[in-house]
Amino acid sequence: MEKYSEMSREQLLALKKELDQQYADIKAQGLALDMSRGKPGTDQLDLSMGMMQVLADGAELKCETGVDCRNYGVIDGIPEAKRLLGEISEVDPEHIIIYGNSSLNVMFDSIARSMTHGVMGNTPWSKLDKVKFLCPVPGYDRHFKITEFFGIEMINVPMTPEGPDMDMVEKLVSEDPAIKGIWCVPKYSNPQGYTYSARTVQRFANLKPAAPDFRIYWDNAYSVHHLYDEDQDFLLEILTECAKAGNPDIVYKFTSTSKISFPGSGIAAVAASKANLEDFRKYMQIQTIGHDKLNQLRHVRFFKNLEGVHEHMRKHANIIRPKFELVLDILNKELGGLGIGQWTTPKGGYFISFDSMKGCAKNIVAKAKEAGVVMTGAGATYPYGKDPEDSNIRIAPTFPSMEELEKAAYVFVVCVKLASVEKLLGE
Ligand code: PMP
Repeated sequence: MEKYSEMSREQLLALKKELDQQYADIKAQGLALDMSRGKPGTDQLDLSMGMMQVLADGAELKCETGVDCRNYGVIDGIPEAKRLLGEISEVDPEHIIIYGNSSLNVMFDSIARSMTHGVMGNTPWSKLDKVKFLCPVPGYDRHFKITEFFGIEMINVPMTPEGPDMDMVEKLVSEDPAIKGIWCVPKYSNPQGYTYSARTVQRFANLKPAAPDFRIYWDNAYSVHHLYDEDQDFLLEILTECAKAGNPDIVYKFTSTSKISFPGSGIAAVAASKANLEDFRKYMQIQTIGHDKLNQLRHVRFFKNLEGVHEHMRKHANIIRPKFELVLDILNKELGGLGIGQWTTPKGGYFISFDSMKGCAKNIVAKAKEAGVVMTGAGATYPYGKDPEDSNIRIAPTFPSMEELEKAAYVFVVCVKLASVEKLLGE
């Protein structure tokens, strides 16, 4: 295949004519497809329907310490749920608090608490002139929205296949006391599907922040979300590494069962040092009388233990692996060798990250939309929605059916080609 950048103007014009025709044909089909959000498909949700039965008709509704889960009580999670989420998070149950239905909600609350009440006795961030957060990019749009919402200045840190640029993280964090945190999705990252290397995790654990209340927001949302049985990424456990480094309080580790059971109706948890958990509890006990223990019980009865979770995740993988492979196949066949885009090939998680030629992403997403395919907004993977290169696009292949996905991926590649030709022609 010839690289677009090596084509003559005549060749590009001829190609554009062809692509304009393809694009017009696609538009005429009146498609309505969605590759924008990382949601499981309905067949994935069906996998957890057994959870609706486990508390039915005469089931024991007391947790193992005898507390009636239908009533108030047990603020930070029933012991069996702490054990299950502890296993998923690879920490002891005493380092876990079980929350409600959303880990993003807990992250929001953690920032809110730090703003109004400070972190472990430090000055509340709202009383400081400036508060900054490091944001590995591209990253998860909803993280960036939280820090933006609280007026926290966000600093881009480039991602690599090993994790964030740690030279930059170490330097900034050690020099600037206004930097209070960093957003991390350390395994099968959103959107690239990268997993931080052992070296990166160790460097995080050994950070020497200028701010005593600096925290790593370690959002391990995709810890058990492998696509392959035999070829899986491995992430070093951060709490252990931080404790070893004499830095036990530097990290909050978040997780949830959103993409294990039901997004929006799962259970979320935080793992952290005991001192940090005390800080969390002080806030939480004012905020609520307790979270949904019946849902905790439901999850434990359905999954039983970590092996049960892994078995369940293999069923998810069997459904979504072909979807990832379909999109990657189409990208390879249609765009390979053209020099107009690069993409990641994740071994887990929910996304593929695509980088177009500079200055094309907005145009590609707009073209796809006009042709009936909704993608995540261009720029969404960057703080303030501003991708300085206008090139990153997040592809979420899980929600559409295989047929829809195939159509959507073809629309996408035609839009990439067309936008690239327009760029090269200076249009
Ligand atoms: N973190 C990441 C990295 C995510 O991709 C998502 C959503 N898909 C969430 C958190 C949201 O999780 P929850 O449903 O537990 O709020």
